[in-house]
Amino acid sequence: VRLVLDTSALFSMNKLPKGELYTTPGVIGEMKKYGDERAGYLAALVNVIEPTKESMKRVREGARITRDSSRLSPVDMEVVALARDLDAAILTDDYSIQNLAKYLGISYSPVNIQGITELVKWRLKCLGCGRVWDEPYPECPVCGSKLRTSRSRK
Ligand SMILES: [Zn+2]
Repeated sequence: VRLVLDTSALFSMNKLPKGELYTTPGVIGEMKKYGDERAGYLAALVNVIEPTKESMKRVREGARITRDSSRLSPVDMEVVALARDLDAAILTDDYSIQNLAKYLGISYSPVNIQGITELVKWRLKCLGCGRVWDEPYPECPVCGSKLRTSRSRK
């Protein structure tokens, strides 16, 4: 299996799936931004490749048509474009990415269906106010401080 992993997939997975794994430099950048210590060794386990400009263009056009543009970050679009380049499936829990992939004829799968998640969730703890978030926000929605990943069993 050839799989492209997005940030939501890497964020919620405790183990990597089997197969040929790919992601984009932007995804690794997001992991680093969230203080995820796995970002450091992920590049050794997953092929990190930039999508072609042509695919990025097609993906941006597609997102405009499906009206997912506002919900998709440039990194999300990179993931979809790379899957298009590699003829790979996307592993993602992001509904907008799934919707766009469907439109572009790219196969995708939610993380939980793969049977690779354990009951361990990566959560984000605010370094400012100490609140804990389930969503991968770029910064604390309350106080704007940096967030750091922390594991918690449910
Ligand atoms: Zn905060």
